[in-house]
Amino acid sequence: MRRYRVSENGHEYLVTEAPASIGEALELAKRNFDSLAYEPKESTYWIDLVVYEDHWDEEAGRWRQVAEAVCPMAIFPLEPPCTSRDGLHWWCTPRELPRVGTFPHGDGFRFVDVCAYCGLYKVIDTWATNPEDGREGLLSVEFMEPDEASVEWMSRRKKEASDV
Ligand SMILES: [Zn+2]
Repeated sequence: MRRYRVSENGHEYLVTEAPASIGEALELAKRNFDSLAYEPKESTYWIDLVVYEDHWDEEAGRWRQVAEAVCPMAIFPLEPPCTSRDGLHWWCTPRELPRVGTFPHGDGFRFVDVCAYCGLYKVIDTWATNPEDGREGLLSVEFMEPDEASVEWMSRRKKEASDV
């Protein structure tokens, strides 16, 4: 006899479906995970989903934990609204901005875009690290305030557009 338990942010529940393996139990836990239950912060953070496999120990008359699997679930920050009329950003990758582009990062990449309307940067990192536990190779999204270079590029673009 065996059972699977899930621990999500300190809250524990039993898997009521009958998964064939701990991998399947983890998939079920991921499907049941409700990211909307968590408040987004300024940067990405992670909630660990931990699945335990217990076997019934007949002799001892109790459950014994035999395996454990962890999956960090990302809670992404909300996109700040744009200053454009419809509030939507127009993400661009102009070559003349040194912070913008695709950069190797660990075994992944950092993709940096800039908004042509407000100069905000958007960073997608496929090799992010969870500062809480040092785990690497995670996906994160971050927004960086406009800087001098992006503001200058933006106003140059606007001027060029109005010159045409
Ligand atoms: Zn914008």
